[in-house]
Amino acid sequence: MSDAEKVPTTGNGQQEFDFDPETLRAKYREERDKRLRPDGNEQYVEVNGDFSRYVDDPYVDHGFTRPPLNDAVDVVIIGGGFGGLLAGARLREAGVKDIRVIEKGGDFGGTWYWNRYPGAQCDIESYIYLPLLEETGYIPKEKYSYAPEILAHARRIGEQFDLYRDACFQTQIKALTWSEDECRWIVTTNRDDRMRARFVIMSNGPLNRPKLPAIPGIDTFKGHTFHTSRWDYGYTGGDTNGNLHKLGDKRVAVIGTGATAVQCVQFLAKYAKHLYVFQRTPSSIDERGNRPTDPKWVKTLKQGWQKHRMENFNVLVTGGFQDQDLVNDGWTDIIRNLGGLLIARNNTNSAVSPEEIMRLAEIADFKKMNQIRARVDAVVKDKRTAEALKPWYRQFCKRPTFNDEYLPAFNRPNVTLVDTMGRGVDRITERGLVFDGVEYEVDCIIFATGFEVGTAYTRRAGFEVYGRDGKSLTDNWANGVKTLHGFCSAGFPNCFHMGITQNALTANFPHMLEEQARHITALIQHAKSQEARCIEPTAEAEAEWVATIKEKAMNNQDFLEACTPGYYNNEGKPQKGFGLAGELYGGGPVEFHELIRKWRESGEMKGLRFS
Ligand code: NDP
Repeated sequence: MSDAEKVPTTGNGQQEFDFDPETLRAKYREERDKRLRPDGNEQYVEVNGDFSRYVDDPYVDHGFTRPPLNDAVDVVIIGGGFGGLLAGARLREAGVKDIRVIEKGGDFGGTWYWNRYPGAQCDIESYIYLPLLEETGYIPKEKYSYAPEILAHARRIGEQFDLYRDACFQTQIKALTWSEDECRWIVTTNRDDRMRARFVIMSNGPLNRPKLPAIPGIDTFKGHTFHTSRWDYGYTGGDTNGNLHKLGDKRVAVIGTGATAVQCVQFLAKYAKHLYVFQRTPSSIDERGNRPTDPKWVKTLKQGWQKHRMENFNVLVTGGFQDQDLVNDGWTDIIRNLGGLLIARNNTNSAVSPEEIMRLAEIADFKKMNQIRARVDAVVKDKRTAEALKPWYRQFCKRPTFNDEYLPAFNRPNVTLVDTMGRGVDRITERGLVFDGVEYEVDCIIFATGFEVGTAYTRRAGFEVYGRDGKSLTDNWANGVKTLHGFCSAGFPNCFHMGITQNALTANFPHMLEEQARHITALIQHAKSQEARCIEPTAEAEAEWVATIKEKAMNNQDFLEACTPGYYNNEGKPQKGFGLAGELYGGGPVEFHELIRKWRESGEMKGLRFS
């Protein structure tokens, strides 16, 4: 341990921690290096051709038909998840009447429409995650909502804001093509629609396209397979609450141990004859601690409470300070740790520099992750299994998870953890999966392998956008995303993006979508008040924003490079400019929300051309 690392101390001069940071850093590096691979995102196969059945919608009647639409609308919103719903709601409030949501699923809900796997739950607190609670007068039943309650809330928003009226479900966009003559987008779909829209809002969802690992032999397996986001209850029996009664005589393999697997494994463990969990990198699993909503607390809520609570959480999880921690859970815990260290440091009366804050944040992180690892030892009885389930990386290298039943599942005699030591499954055969020369015969393989993040935007969207002069968005962004504030691009007038295109990510996704919905609504309102038919950023403003993104992105480069690979750091290649890591505003969401709020409230709309 270096001299500098003998601090912080408590007020009485005693050392605050009982571990060696350098040993932990070395262990983290070793675990990362094991997992770095040259193919990055290319290690996954695209779900098309023979694999397209993995994305078929299991929740709808496939015989559905309707006549093609050949009409004009004011606003087309692509995607009926919380992003599209929030945009629709805010536009309705602003008096926009002619809104059409186009959605490939059979209803609103987005993520929560697709992800109905057993145990699906949101691990962001429900009171800040479910949007528009005050507007809809709904209070969630528990601190952390399960998927059916969230899906029902999406439908509630759709109804309350009259978005069902003109929605097109089970409809996939084929292309968006800008018509210069009409100053409109021509929207074509797989149902032979040809709609003309003044404005288009793309809220396709950043994690909407399931991905499959390109494990050799993946197409040779003769048993049953599916992806967690299209759970096959016909095969497993039961529903999102469990009761997977058809698995009693089945040997099941799950590939992947991310946030999804952490939630569904307990149900597979309970019902399958035998469950094999194939792990490449363990998740960090903190306590869940769910509880019913306290009606007395609900009575204390004053107007504006939800926004206040969302902002309180957002500040805390991005390293800021608040007098009170309203959500007070595993997400904000790490910041509490940091706060404690800072107080201890201040007691020594020395000034705290930014470098010192970074260092203390790392110490707080080590403490948190030590706690997470100690929890594994406390729960999992078999020492070897417990050792394999311990995550060795900084907490926000991968998405932290929260669950009280995942770890105990490994104490069951019918559950085997196959730890692939960072390598992944070697091979799939007709009968099962092979790792390290051992073949595990199974009846069913469930891919809990997540969603595409770092691939081209239009590939994830599933359609192309042709802007001015027929230029495609794919070509336009071939060397990196180019936008003004993440919302719109030069050459693609009246087309707005929601999600994570060069703006700031929040742990509470709907909070970010809410800010985006307000911003886009303000832009459309401004265009209407000016009687402008076209909104488009200038090339200079766009270049300036791209430069800002690059400059700010440098801030977390060291952190991302030190991380074990995953979609947070573009599978170990954070500097490539694609994926989550490359496209974000490094100043963080608090600064970004303030920046766009001030920008639009100035009334100048600098950098945007209204014509
Ligand atoms: P993830 O991308 O998080 O996890 C995919 C898993 O598959 C990882 O464990 C990965 O290992 C593993 N994997 C990939 N390829 C192989 C291979 N060849 N062999 C073995 N394992 C492999 O997907 P999830 O569906 O779990 O979660 C996606 C996101 O959805 C989450 O990060 C979160 O943002 C969101 N989510 C949110 C929830 C909530 O509560 N709000 C709940 C569930 C999901 P490795 O880590 O080594 O790459």
